[in-house]
Amino acid sequence: RAKNEKSNDFDHNPHLNPFTNRPFSPAYYKILEKRKVLPAWEARQKVVELVKQYQVLVLQGETGSGKTTQVPQFLLLAGIAKGKAIACTQPRRVAAMSVAKRVSEEMDVALGQEVGYTIRFEDRSGPKTVLKYLTDGMLLREAMNDPMLSRYGVIILDEAHERTLSTDILFGLIKEVLPKRKDLKIVVMSATLNAEKFQEYFEGAPMIDVPGRMYPVEIFYTPEPEKDYLIAAIRTVIQIHIVEDEGDILLFLTGEEEIEQACREIRDEVKKLGNEVGDMLVVPLYSSLPPAQQQRIFDQAPPKNKRGVPGRKVVVSTNIAETSLTIDGIVYVIDPGFAKNKIYNPRLRVESLLVSPISKASAKQRAGRAGRTRPGKCFRLYPERAFEKELKENTYAEILRSNLNSVVLTLLKLGIQDIVHFDYMDPPAPETLMRALEELNYLGALTDDGKLTQIGMRMSEFPLDPQMSKVLLSAEKLQCVNEAVSIIATLNVPMIFLRPKDQQSEADAAKSRFAHEDGDHLTYLNAFNAYKLKKESPDWCYDHYLNSRALKQANDVREQLLQIMVKIGMKIQSKPMNDPDYYQNIKKAILSGYFMQVAHLQRAGHYLTFRDDQVVAIHPSSTLDHKPEWCMYNEFVLTSKNYIRTVTEIRPDWLFEIAPEYFDLDEIKNSEAKRKLERVYKRMKESDE
Ligand code: ADP
Ligand code: MG
Repeated sequence: RAKNEKSNDFDHNPHLNPFTNRPFSPAYYKILEKRKVLPAWEARQKVVELVKQYQVLVLQGETGSGKTTQVPQFLLLAGIAKGKAIACTQPRRVAAMSVAKRVSEEMDVALGQEVGYTIRFEDRSGPKTVLKYLTDGMLLREAMNDPMLSRYGVIILDEAHERTLSTDILFGLIKEVLPKRKDLKIVVMSATLNAEKFQEYFEGAPMIDVPGRMYPVEIFYTPEPEKDYLIAAIRTVIQIHIVEDEGDILLFLTGEEEIEQACREIRDEVKKLGNEVGDMLVVPLYSSLPPAQQQRIFDQAPPKNKRGVPGRKVVVSTNIAETSLTIDGIVYVIDPGFAKNKIYNPRLRVESLLVSPISKASAKQRAGRAGRTRPGKCFRLYPERAFEKELKENTYAEILRSNLNSVVLTLLKLGIQDIVHFDYMDPPAPETLMRALEELNYLGALTDDGKLTQIGMRMSEFPLDPQMSKVLLSAEKLQCVNEAVSIIATLNVPMIFLRPKDQQSEADAAKSRFAHEDGDHLTYLNAFNAYKLKKESPDWCYDHYLNSRALKQANDVREQLLQIMVKIGMKIQSKPMNDPDYYQNIKKAILSGYFMQVAHLQRAGHYLTFRDDQVVAIHPSSTLDHKPEWCMYNEFVLTSKNYIRTVTEIRPDWLFEIAPEYFDLDEIKNSEAKRKLERVYKRMKESDE
């Protein structure tokens, strides 16, 4: 027993790093002191013992107690993985990167060596990696090629309470793998939220509770609902800064644009106050922020100013800071009560991100962030009665509010034929599953009886939406692979066109130089090609209101997609630009993936989406210079008005050529668009004869 304890103890050899055989650095010992006071540290013996004894362990603990950073290390040093690697999944890319970096520092190794991370289109792990943080989606992809997950001895499903689509699918998958891999250990980790549900799902799994050290958090409500939560939030930041004691602020907002705006306005307001108040460090946090900037949330608050007033840090964040990342020193939390949530309407086949009220569970988590280091305060920008009466208890699992096309393709690739009776923790609506099967069938990925086709197999190789994968596959025959892959790459990174609030007309003028008259997809292509022609120059990007970071990322994504294409034996070929079919073929390739997202201009002057009959308008950001009768779109944006975004003109006769089953006129109910198509069809037949 005593011996056993020693082998689990970190300082059994206080000088040599067991992973590098080099002496530990001074930084190692400094961090070690911090780690030793984390609640998880106290539980380490118990955790290791339970994992040895049981195949599945559920571990719940307050955010910040050390689950994500410590538990994988305990298991690693205790040799639980038996020479194999440990995987720790994260729903968010930012968390995977940030935590891997932190843990590499804690273990005194170089990031990407013993400790690494893998997120979509970015792999910083290697043959030496024994502890890998990866997004749940990436582990799912690995399972497609290695269904037994044989590389891993331990799999930690972290942030399980988030109930993301990929984590939910991993649950079912792992439940099937467990009896076949008796050596595999699973740890399900979650914030203190409904962890019993995981215990029930993995029948007989023990649960361990890592008690957090929580200080009381005083909650304040507004007497009446706020008309504009952004204005109210900024005002609250300033008030706290003026009247409250030392301590950092965490403000929850819904997305990048809003967060950047709030940061600017807070900085401006603080400047106006002069040195009556302390200096303020305002840092944004959202998923598309580059890693170096994400790190800034961990910077210290500014020191006292000349008048001796202490400084303050304000982190303005999306939901990432709710449970995924812990920022020490937060004493004040401002919660406007909203988050961007995915919703899916299978009848309209529309998946959207919508700003909507959070759940009570989320509100409690947010408040908890204020009480990590000392008693704190949480300012809810809504009345108490709204909290009681209007917020639902929990957020619904993502699987209940998503389009399942990708998931169904993944499950079939994993060899799971009966997707209806798969062991879902919360089964999705049958209608949503049926929609997915139907759409995959139209895309040619499935046979009529739901079996994966050759096309479907190849589509599943790409870490993309099935529609996008289809575009790439079609591009081979249409000889526009280079162009299609550039377009798809730019659609998978943050917006490449910048449009700063105070320079909108300059930005629009700059964008118009890349505009293609046929539509936005080709505008993206023009911008990307120009970027390559200018040797990827960041200065040139800056002058042309292009996001050079996004373009660089697009270039990486493009390379990786090309590698996959080569691997599956595709010919990377394109027609010369002066070929008369050059642009037409690119558009056809895109249409082969997006024929279910077509809109028709009505005589009355507005667009209706084909088949679903939704009134939509082309998004004002579009570079189309006219209103084409037929167009395809990449995205349906639900706001006060319905918009279609990233729109390109098409010709109606292509619809019959590219997706005859979907445009089977006998199946389509009568409409203005149908009558138009009937005429097109008749003309096509006549000219054939
Ligand atoms: P949990 O997963 O239980 O929410 P974590 O393991 O993520 O907790 O974090 C534990 C502690 O480690 C945090 O409270 C914080 O003090 C510290 N920590 C984590 N990441 C970083 C980082 N990147 N920089 C500084 N400290 C960090
Ligand atoms: Mg965590």
